[in-house]
Amino acid sequence: MRTVAVLGGGPAGAFAAQRLAAAGLRVVVFDEKLAWEKPCGGGLTYKAYHEYPFLIDNDTPKRLVRETTLAAPEAGQVKMTLAQPLVIYSRMDLNNMLLKRAERSGAMIEKTRVMAIERHERTWRLRTQSGVAEADFCIIATGARNPLREVGTEWGAKDTMSALGYYVRATQEQIDIQFLRNLEGYIWVFPRCGHLSVGICGKGEPAQSLRARLESYMDQRGMAWKGSRFYSHMLPSLETSGWRRNRVAGDGWLAVGDAGGLVDPITGEGLYYAMRSGDLASRVVIDDAHSLAEKAAAYRTLLAREFALDLEFAATLAKRVFLGRFMFNTVPARMIHFIRRSERFRVLMQDLFAGTQPYSTLKSRLLKNLNGTLQEVLMNFFLNRVIPERSGL
Ligand SMILES: Cc1cc2nc3c(=O)[nH]c(=O)nc-3n(C[C@H](O)[C@H](O)[C@H](O)COP(=O)(O)OP(=O)(O)OC[C@H]3O[C@@H](n4cnc5c(N)ncnc54)[C@H](O)[C@@H]3O)c2cc1C
Repeated sequence: MRTVAVLGGGPAGAFAAQRLAAAGLRVVVFDEKLAWEKPCGGGLTYKAYHEYPFLIDNDTPKRLVRETTLAAPEAGQVKMTLAQPLVIYSRMDLNNMLLKRAERSGAMIEKTRVMAIERHERTWRLRTQSGVAEADFCIIATGARNPLREVGTEWGAKDTMSALGYYVRATQEQIDIQFLRNLEGYIWVFPRCGHLSVGICGKGEPAQSLRARLESYMDQRGMAWKGSRFYSHMLPSLETSGWRRNRVAGDGWLAVGDAGGLVDPITGEGLYYAMRSGDLASRVVIDDAHSLAEKAAAYRTLLAREFALDLEFAATLAKRVFLGRFMFNTVPARMIHFIRRSERFRVLMQDLFAGTQPYSTLKSRLLKNLNGTLQEVLMNFFLNRVIPERSGL
């Protein structure tokens, strides 16, 4: 293989390009914007920087956040210390850092839009805004709004959610998560360097209505958001059927990150999966043990083994997490009650925030601990009746 074209220079494309170039391949990244403030919270879980320590050991501006509050209707709010901090970047800074790494490893970076791609026997011809380029292999990293119809995920109507928000000039130390009545989604407040990223994601609800919910939340909190910069984008959120027919690879191409639909359908976390899929795709491209014809299958197998099956399973839980009921209340409200009253449950939530608790074993962990958790909840409840929390004892 001589030339690999990486279409899109976001986290997925830049990560893949760095690995491919470091392995000695000729790599060209095509991105129409290069580093830009892509609409995003910018939050990286422990899982991401544990796997790739350079994401935390660097000079790029970022916030390390150790506290969070979670709130839901009829449950109030609860504070929780994170066992592992969440690292929050501005996307301009994160993208820039990743593209520079790719460049230092030898990747060529070209600022241009890819208009179309065509397969000619064993090569690709790319038509870009600045001309025509040829490549032997394509990494598709064009994000959730991938304009190239013939490659990458094909969305069904229910496979995406809207995500929008404001960059508000304010500071705070903790992350806030707010669940809302009848919404498969949530509001987040992420402290960044110099501002907050305050946003909402939701499935099955028009963007205008989500925006109204978010503005009402900010008003209630007394946030001075008017005049702040607005952002909105699409977030892949595949249903189970979407995962089953997901098109992540084909003849001479592999899709990474959002272009492959690789986002957690519950939390909306996509940055880790973008970089991890970029890493896995580059391994498959580099590995001479796979013939060109075998690369698509090899990549699908790696993805499934690493995280895609777990995310497919998460898709079966998403509606229950946000809209389900448990013990005569909503699941988010019960979550808050349990965090408040059970140490075991709090540790489980910390692991979910860190990204170290797979969804596939969540149910068995919950069941294994249920007895102890309920005992803790009940003990706590009765103790608080005798010694009220506000007594400070
Ligand atoms: C509002 C919002 C909040 C989010 N918050 C978080 C969060 O806090 N944590 C988290 O982990 N995930 C979050 N996500 C998800 C995360 O932003 C994405 O999963 C991540 O950006 C995916 O990276 P990517 O490289 O696949 O795609 P992108 O980051 O979208 O990069 C795609 C790149 O391709 C380029 N491109 C597209 N088409 C072309 C073309 N035709 N020619 C040339 N270039 C092209 C674009 O310019 C862009 O740079 C959030 C998403 C949204 C919408």
